[in-house]
Amino acid sequence: TQFTDLGLAEPILRALTAEGYTDPTPIQSQVIPAMLAGKDVLGTAQTGTGKTAAFVLPLLHALTLDNQRPAPKACRALIMAPTRELAAQIADSVRTYGRGSKFSVTVIVGGLKIGKQVRAMERGVDIVVATPGRLLDLKSQNAIRFDQIRTVVLDEADHMMDMGFLPQIRKVLTQLPKERQTALLSATMPKDIRKLAEQFLDNPVNVAV
Ligand code: AMP
Repeated sequence: TQFTDLGLAEPILRALTAEGYTDPTPIQSQVIPAMLAGKDVLGTAQTGTGKTAAFVLPLLHALTLDNQRPAPKACRALIMAPTRELAAQIADSVRTYGRGSKFSVTVIVGGLKIGKQVRAMERGVDIVVATPGRLLDLKSQNAIRFDQIRTVVLDEADHMMDMGFLPQIRKVLTQLPKERQTALLSATMPKDIRKLAEQFLDNPVNVAV
């Protein structure tokens, strides 16, 4: 298979061509069709497998089909990651694969001034990449709305758990709309992550690479 066989929107295919990517990696060829079909995904994958594009590409595709603008303080897709650095990398991937698609992305992470993040949310952004703690800080200040979120991705879930973020993740997931698509990616699948998936994913497609 090639990316052109997967049914992704034209602007996304053009961005992939510009990157020189023609063939999906194994995780991409499993996760992309499942997510395009609207299914939840439970994926076991390490860094370096192409896992970021595996969830970013279908997420961008879904947004191209839904051309509503996000309301002030709202977003339509949420990606949670353990660290500031990973969140920044994911946002870079969103910008790379989303160039030509005109979506706005913002990073909501600790250690940076909250005011700028609050103002970004006031404008309404399509995609938020966040660490769980700062995301809840914004939520408790009513600076972010969850009601328009249709897709949520938990990246490096085991790493988030090791950092003690499990209670915050549960708190966020509990507040999200029930009608949504959820993908959980993790390098390992310890019991706590499986339990989280059982509670918050709906009949997920299991993928391991
Ligand atoms: P990740 O596992 O998401 O950290 O990605 C690892 C690296 O692989 C990144 O530098 C990506 O830009 C690159 N990459 C992702 N998908 C592909 C692909 N289909 N073909 C070639 N390189 C890719």
